[in-house]
Amino acid sequence: MQINDIGEFGLIRKIANLFDSLTPEGWDGIGDDCAIIPIDSEHSMVVTSDMLVEDVHFISSRISAYELGRKALAVNLSDIAAMGARPTATFLSIGLPSSVEVEWCDAFFEGYRSFGVPLLGGDTTSSKSGIVVNITVLGSCSINNIKRRRDAKVGDLVVVNAHLGDSAAGLQLLLSNAESSNNLDFKTLIAAHHNPEPSIEQGAWLGTQKSVHAMMDISDGVASDLKHILRASQCNAIINMDEIPISDTAQRVAAQMGWNMVELAVSGGEDYGLLMTVEPEHFDELALQYSEKFGTKLYVIGQIVEQIRGVDDHANCREDLIAWNDSANTNNSDTHTYSGFRHF
Ligand code: ADP
Ligand code: MG
Repeated sequence: MQINDIGEFGLIRKIANLFDSLTPEGWDGIGDDCAIIPIDSEHSMVVTSDMLVEDVHFISSRISAYELGRKALAVNLSDIAAMGARPTATFLSIGLPSSVEVEWCDAFFEGYRSFGVPLLGGDTTSSKSGIVVNITVLGSCSINNIKRRRDAKVGDLVVVNAHLGDSAAGLQLLLSNAESSNNLDFKTLIAAHHNPEPSIEQGAWLGTQKSVHAMMDISDGVASDLKHILRASQCNAIINMDEIPISDTAQRVAAQMGWNMVELAVSGGEDYGLLMTVEPEHFDELALQYSEKFGTKLYVIGQIVEQIRGVDDHANCREDLIAWNDSANTNNSDTHTYSGFRHF
């Protein structure tokens, strides 16, 4: 059997099963955006690690060294924010082919440094097959503010704090060699792909809000990421496709290119916004305070419902945990049908 047959999450489950018994009582290991290590009775350290591999996660001729340095750290800072924590320190391990220019490295570290978070150590090695970047970030959080994937409650609203799909649209444009176009919309979407903005302040603030129950960041696409919350919290969700927030820029480009933007928005990754579940009776107040503080909106895209027996009872089952409501497309056979359980 090959790794491909069990997939990334199949492999992670194997590792988790093997190491679960070695995880100290009260610590949280594999399964959330960060591991959680209690420091004292009030504080915890959170830790995340993410790797970017050339030609898997980026094409080095298409992204500047500055952007790569920035993005490599951004994806880790996003995981810290997703716990309701603040970043405190980073470690960087980097594998570089010997042909890489020193100027490339200077620009990479300038991008990395742009977040102002300390880099305290790491490892440097040569690579025979492309650039490899692995970053570990430590964060700190008051124990009461930590947001886990497993804390969604039936009745909670499913909420995101950012437009979805800009990054995926940018990637589509890159793959169709549109990066040299002078079209401003194209440039905006490609920039969204190369320069994701992690919700650092927003995550730390949402951590302090009791009405926010479960939280995670959107790295693989909301369709796939939400399933992690639903599995961990043993519930299902109904998502309204009409409510998926899509930027005007993405709408315009999708119309021009003939893309189904809603499909791209839910299944495309790398938006690095936050996905959370919120007590419905406190949502309006939360959203008001959020928009006053950050100048942007919280978007309700659906609701948590009780676990439907037989749907995803066991981890390897491909049945869907999410019911997709789409009034516009339900009767249109030319488009994807989202109502009912959808398979990816
Ligand atoms: P994220 O996208 O939030 O970074 P991932 O989907 O990469 O999360 O990982 C899911 C969980 O599996 C996380 O808790 C992560 O730490 C853990 N994980 C992933 N790969 C490994 C590995 N090789 N060894 C141990 N834990 C891993
Ligand atoms: Mg994450």
